[in-house]
Amino acid sequence: MIADLNTMPHMFWRCNREFFDHKLPTPKWGIMHTYRNLGRFEYLRNEKGKKRRHIKILMSDYFDFDEETFMNIMVHEMIHYYLLLFGTDDKCDHGADFKAMAQEKNQKYGLNITTTFDASSIPESSFAPKRTWWRCFNARAKYSTTYRPVASSSRLVKLIHEADHHAAKKAEKAE
Ligand SMILES: [Zn+2]
Repeated sequence: MIADLNTMPHMFWRCNREFFDHKLPTPKWGIMHTYRNLGRFEYLRNEKGKKRRHIKILMSDYFDFDEETFMNIMVHEMIHYYLLLFGTDDKCDHGADFKAMAQEKNQKYGLNITTTFDASSIPESSFAPKRTWWRCFNARAKYSTTYRPVASSSRLVKLIHEADHHAAKKAEKAE
């Protein structure tokens, strides 16, 4: 199952019905051409500090996921979304609120929501170069420590940090 503008909304609607009681409005969609992150949740704040503009869920099209993994990634991003709308911790990212909700969904529905994921066993899609790992990050979480290298290489680590820096600068500019 490759992420595209058809598979993503369909999985979102299904998960919204089954796990979130239809509480999440349909967000914008984005496709990432990267093996560094499988999923990503983005939003912008406006001047008054409200946080509901340009809410977007992105997934990488470099992998051909099985349905279960696709669903777990989508629900991971939807938990960020839910906590943005209904949570109390502004900077939760993968903090206590995220972990509590992930655990609740895992127990209640038999899901496997995690904050890191070893992507080495996932087959590549036709869009993919060589892949190594996944890290989900919230666009506003400037320095997260959730990534876990599957294959270690100093060059790859450097690329990741450059990507972080770029994302952080982008998030700053957007404010
Ligand atoms: Zn995340």
